[in-house]
Amino acid sequence: MSRVFNFSAGPSVLPEVVLKQAAEEMMDYKGSGMSVMEMSHRSKVYDSIIKEAEQDLRDLMEIPDNYKVLFLQGGASQQFAAVPMNLMKNGVADYIITGQWAKKAYEEAQKYGKANAVASSADKTFSYIPDCSNLPISEDADYVYICHNNTIYGTTYKKLPDTKGKILVADMSSDILSQPVNVSDYGLIFFGVQKNVGPAGVVVVIIREDLIRDDVMPFTPTMLKYKTQADNDSLYNTPPCYGIYICGLVFKWVKEMGGLSAMKVHNEKKAAILYDFLDSSKMFSGTVVKEDRSLMNVPFVTGNEELDAKFVKEATAAGFVNLKGHRTVGGMRASIYNAMPIEGVEKLVQFMKDFEAANS
Ligand SMILES: *Cc1c(COP(=O)(O)O)cnc(C)c1O
Repeated sequence: MSRVFNFSAGPSVLPEVVLKQAAEEMMDYKGSGMSVMEMSHRSKVYDSIIKEAEQDLRDLMEIPDNYKVLFLQGGASQQFAAVPMNLMKNGVADYIITGQWAKKAYEEAQKYGKANAVASSADKTFSYIPDCSNLPISEDADYVYICHNNTIYGTTYKKLPDTKGKILVADMSSDILSQPVNVSDYGLIFFGVQKNVGPAGVVVVIIREDLIRDDVMPFTPTMLKYKTQADNDSLYNTPPCYGIYICGLVFKWVKEMGGLSAMKVHNEKKAAILYDFLDSSKMFSGTVVKEDRSLMNVPFVTGNEELDAKFVKEATAAGFVNLKGHRTVGGMRASIYNAMPIEGVEKLVQFMKDFEAANS
């Protein structure tokens, strides 16, 4: 067996101990005589898997009792529709456009009501987070929407927008569990799990109970109505059982790592190794403003497309894979999620130093 250092933006690297445990439990989960993939979602043994996963996530994020945790399908993108269908009571919402995912959510919301773009960083290829201290928030906005970490561009909010009392909704797909979150600051948080938590196919919604309503838009599909899912503890239909099981193992791993404060220290240390090098290098440079740098996704360029391509090719051959930047940005991007070991970043930086020496 030989494992590479996988810098993929998603689906992405998972903790090795989790993969090993899943392999060990594959044929016979805890004496049940079957794989988690083979068991009824209504069985006692599966019930404890999903309940424990929820409890561990609640412990990690210190989720208050008046929030529901839903394990759903459809990915983060499905929530771009579910959020307006469920939360637009006045038919108005304000969106902050900090990248492609925020933009897609904004465009989807326009199908269901009046979605306003109240701030954007599109003018500079989303390389910064706009000033959100005094936004023109709509008086009748049902919520203000942000993408908390911009996976493609590598920016993140260091300070939350002033929503002027409106509910804040956040897509945290690419930075969930990377640092502590004050859940009470939000009405709703959702994340597709395939960046920092588990296999694609699961999306988790954390929603304040008073926002779970029956009087959603009349055409809202039963499956997309939060009330349906909340009333049935995410078991209205067959949930993505195996994916939820892996998420549960990752939650336990994060707990063992010391929880979210420890994860933050670990991630800051890891990111600093790469950012410090980018700041000192004559060949490589980061593409976003320093104040808004993400701890999870680090885009960088050499300034020469041919050299970028050569770097990606040689890095791949050396076992540093999936470093090619998003097609809309070019260059490179190293995604250094929770499960990327410090050693992976140290070795990548050494490789970059050697590449720079050999090519300048
Ligand atoms: C990857 C990603 C998405 C899309 O997730 P899907 O599960 O593929 O729909 C949405 N938002 C952010 C921030 C992402 O990183």
